[in-house]
Amino acid sequence: MYQYKRSSELFDEANKYIPGGVNSPVRAFKSVGGTPVFIEKAKGSILTDADGNEYIDYISSWGPMILGHAYPKVIEAIKEKVEDSTSFGAPTELEIDIAKLIVEMVPNIDKVRMVNSGTEACMSAIRVARGYTGRNKFIKFEGCYHGHADSFLIKAGSGASTFGVPNSPGVTPGTANDTLTARYNDIDNVKQLVAENKDEIAAIIIEPIAGNMGCVLPKKGFMEELRTLCDQEGILLIFDEVMNGFRLARGGAQEYLGIKADLVTFGKVIGGGMPVGAYAGPDEIMKVVSPLGPVYQAGTLSGNPIAMIAGYTLLKDLNENPQYFTELEEKTEYLHKGLDKVLAESGFDYKINRCGSMISVFFTDVDVLDFDTAATANNEKFPQFFHEMLKRGIYLPPSSFESYFLSNSLTYEMLDKTIQAAKESLEAMK
Ligand code: PMP
Repeated sequence: MYQYKRSSELFDEANKYIPGGVNSPVRAFKSVGGTPVFIEKAKGSILTDADGNEYIDYISSWGPMILGHAYPKVIEAIKEKVEDSTSFGAPTELEIDIAKLIVEMVPNIDKVRMVNSGTEACMSAIRVARGYTGRNKFIKFEGCYHGHADSFLIKAGSGASTFGVPNSPGVTPGTANDTLTARYNDIDNVKQLVAENKDEIAAIIIEPIAGNMGCVLPKKGFMEELRTLCDQEGILLIFDEVMNGFRLARGGAQEYLGIKADLVTFGKVIGGGMPVGAYAGPDEIMKVVSPLGPVYQAGTLSGNPIAMIAGYTLLKDLNENPQYFTELEEKTEYLHKGLDKVLAESGFDYKINRCGSMISVFFTDVDVLDFDTAATANNEKFPQFFHEMLKRGIYLPPSSFESYFLSNSLTYEMLDKTIQAAKESLEAMK
């Protein structure tokens, strides 16, 4: 039986010094209840907590650990690099190496600017789009999360949905005014917003495969229609690939879906587990970025050598081993089939959405296509399932508005163990 004695003590202590005891809200287990598990270390797909309990990890640090924790090549590269100092605030050759590699892997981009998080990447991409088009407004989709910059905290997904604060205090009405929200997968809704704000919209930003309302896939034709609409109206289409990038395929969602974006943002995998984000696009648009152009964007630690070597090493490995993406997709499909079987046997209402190595189980009887349908699964079943799985050594995302992220370090034995745990968990929930 799992004991959480040390985690519980640590959480009490953490609450004295850190708001809510955590440095990012979803970690507090607020939507599932109970004590958050404090992690001590991890190797491959196995997490070890402060009480010595072990778990099979389906979060992968929310994406970056696509080849497993403490991936030997990445760890070795960091160790070697760290001896040469941890930051210069001056250009390095390594920044050219990673930029070249990203431009080689990702379609339709000429230049890439490194930042320190997915939030910064998306915030900067919006600024570039505004600077380039000379327009102020942008459209985002309800349930999509693009980081915690003010202009995105309007009907955002992820933790913002879990906590029911889609419109966060601290975001001014002026800021909110320039953020228009549309229903994901509803092209008519987007067209209507565009018509009502003719020549005022700089960009449409979207998670091509959404992960922040659980995993939600674009309907056939939706992305194509968005692309056409943007072309017709002089709007930039921004793919927020913070989750999708270097996960769905070498070239991310653009390659996976065969759709061209005007700007792309990255985070997570791109940093190999270090704090990194990036935005990228063709020369024609990126030429507005400072110091080439007038759109200002900077960072004391941007291009940090330790972060760059971690990201570069991981991306290079993914680039040289395209079979990793196929293996990962096959493993996720195996899990999908296994979960589908035990869920069907359980008699509970459920839907499973999957794309590549992103997958979500929704306890609902409606197809999950957008935020409203995803929200029907935010019910009492989810926390029950979460805790039953946790007790059986399976670490799932602690919110129904999150996707699982698989890692290629998962073995078929681990997947079988997970499916068996799901069977027992569903039995226990009856
Ligand atoms: N965009 C997407 C699609 C994300 O999933 C996230 C984070 N989960 C972000 C942006 C923000 O990234 P970060 O947390 O690194 O600021």
